[in-house]
This record gives sequence, C-alpha cells and structure tokens, in this order.
Amino acid sequence: MTVRVRDDLAALEGYHSPQVDVAVRLNTNESPYPPPEAWRQAFLDEVKAITFNRYPDRQASVLRRALGDLHGVAPEQVFAANGSNEVLQALCLAYGGHARSVVVFEPTYPLHSHIARITGSEVVAGGRRDDFSLDPDDVRRVLVRADPAITFLCSPNNPTGTVDPSATTAAVVAAAPGLVVVDEAYGQFAPRSAISQVSDGGGLVVVRTFSKAWAMAGLRLGYCVAPAEVVTALESVTLPYHLDTATQAAGRLALRFRSEMEARVALLVAERDRLTRALSALPVDTWPSGANFVLFRPRARAGAEVWKALVERSVLVRDCAAWPGLDGCLRVTVGTPHEDDAFLAALTEVLGPSGPLRGVAA
Ligand code: PMP
Repeated sequence: MTVRVRDDLAALEGYHSPQVDVAVRLNTNESPYPPPEAWRQAFLDEVKAITFNRYPDRQASVLRRALGDLHGVAPEQVFAANGSNEVLQALCLAYGGHARSVVVFEPTYPLHSHIARITGSEVVAGGRRDDFSLDPDDVRRVLVRADPAITFLCSPNNPTGTVDPSATTAAVVAAAPGLVVVDEAYGQFAPRSAISQVSDGGGLVVVRTFSKAWAMAGLRLGYCVAPAEVVTALESVTLPYHLDTATQAAGRLALRFRSEMEARVALLVAERDRLTRALSALPVDTWPSGANFVLFRPRARAGAEVWKALVERSVLVRDCAAWPGLDGCLRVTVGTPHEDDAFLAALTEVLGPSGPLRGVAA
C-alpha cells in the first residue's frame, strides 16, 4: 500500500488498559455492582418493542429532556453521545483542530490529550502541585502561554482522585480564553460538581458518563451540560443518528432509578474510605480520592513489579507508571468488599516482609 497514515497519527500510541484474565478486576473504574434488576427488565421490554427498521430519534429528545430535568437545565443545554469519550471527541472536533491548542494539567486522563491530537490540535501540558491540586498562578501562566481553544479539567481527576475546589474551577473559567471542559466522569462520588456554574453565553462545559456511578459501561452513553450554542456546535460535528434507540432508552430508563444509583454510590464511597484506611497501614503512599478509585505508590518496590505480582495472585489494578509524574504509581478501583479484601490480602503478601519480592529474608 502506498498511502501512509497521517504523520501525526503514526507517532500516537493508542490508550488501553491490558485486559488480563483474572478473578479480581480493579483496573478500569467500573461499578462492581450491576444496575437494578427492575431497570434490566424495563430496558429489555423496551428493546423488544423497538421498531428496528427505523432510525433512532436523531435529537435524542426524550433522553435530553430527562437529563435536563436531572440537572435543572434545558434540553438544549444537553448533548448526549456514545460514552463520554465521544463527547470529548465532539468537543475537540468542534473547538480544537489545526492551528488551535488544547491545555491539560498532567497527570490526568490521557484521552484528553490523545483525542485533542487526533483532531490535529496542539496539546500544551501544565502541571500540578505535589498533592496533585492545581496552582491557580501556574494555571494562569499556562493559559497565557497557550491561548487555548479548550482547557480540560478533570474533577475528580483520573487517576489521582483530586477534586477541584469550586473557586479553582471558577478562576480557570475566568482566566481561560476558550472553553473550559470539566470532565466529571466520577462526579457522583465527589462532594461537589461544576454543573451549577454552566450558563448560556459562558465558556464552561461539564461532561458526565453512565459508565461509572450508573453502572452501565457495557452500554455506551455519556453527555455534557453546556451552553446551548456549544450543544449546537457539537451536533454539527456528530454523525447523523449516532446514538441508537436502545442506548437512548437505556439512559432514559436509568434515570428512574436515581435513588438506587445514589445508594450504590454511598456504598462505594464508604468502601473507598475503608480501602484508603487499609492502604494507609501498608508501606505505600496514598492520596485522598473523591472518586471510585485510589492512587497509591509502594514505597520500597517498583510499581511494575508489584503490578505483576498482583496479577500472579489474580488481581488486576492499573499501572500508572507511563503517566507523567506518576512513576511507580498504581491505581485500584473500588470493588465489592470481597474483591477489595482479596486485593488487600494480595498486596499485603506482596509488600510484606516475607513477600517474594523482598527476596531472602535477612
Ligand atoms: N473521562 C474520564 C476521566 C474517564 O476516566 C473515563 C473512562 N475511564 C472517561 C471519561 C470515558 O468514559 P466513557 O467513554 O465510558 O463514558
């Protein structure tokens, strides 16, 4: 073949978490619990009744109205797509691109810069303090230097779990020349959200997903709450009928089970705190998390070795070593108490004085 892939794409690596066959999977921040059985029944009943020979509602009107009601905004301020990654892609397609720049603050969710690059945008990376919070003065300097079309924030931040204070978000929105996109994929696990700061005429967009707290990663549904003019721009870069009838129904029906979702979140938050406490008794550094995962760094062992030793014990976590500033760090998703106990037992064994990685005991 004589046609080569775009030069800028050839240099990009895909983003993936290795899918290893293990008993305890704590690597991709999914919900360990399924959605309620009543949701499954309602969904399957609707699927049976779908007119499969007809295209879906192109505007996803009913779903967007339901999401608007959930957040107290108009349906015109909601854009829905196949997972929040597709929302991020639409944002980069509409506002990024050639001769435009996108700002991220590393370490953060790698797909922000990855998608930005795929759309031809230049990526400018700022940093974070040692505790992974944002330094407002530093942020302002990066924004002046980059003059970005899009500034990505992530709260809670994947993979550090850091939740931005409202004042920080407001300061970034005030200082940013273009859109500020707050990725709240884990928003329900955190004590605050930026959604109430979204307004028509403003530059703030908040992205959410059904993959985490809503326990629907197997279906692909995400959305953003945005100024109406931004939603119109996102629709203009999206393929016709991109969101199929079944996915629209799944999301619409899920919203009827909000209290069950909130109960699931409360359970996972309590479990996250138990997991964090247990980790703090081990020879690892941890950071406070507002999400359904915890970042930790073994003090005396290479992260990659610990990752491998956990896999050998049939426990899969995320190796974050390749992410900027996260040398030796691992991220564990909050699972069921049973899964978390299996993880803690395996980690204790790996890090303990008689663990195989210590070699021969002195
Ligand atoms: N944003 C963040 C911060 C994430 O961690 C993820 C998933 N890992 C996503 C967005 C994408 O999720 P989805 O496409 O499943 O909605």
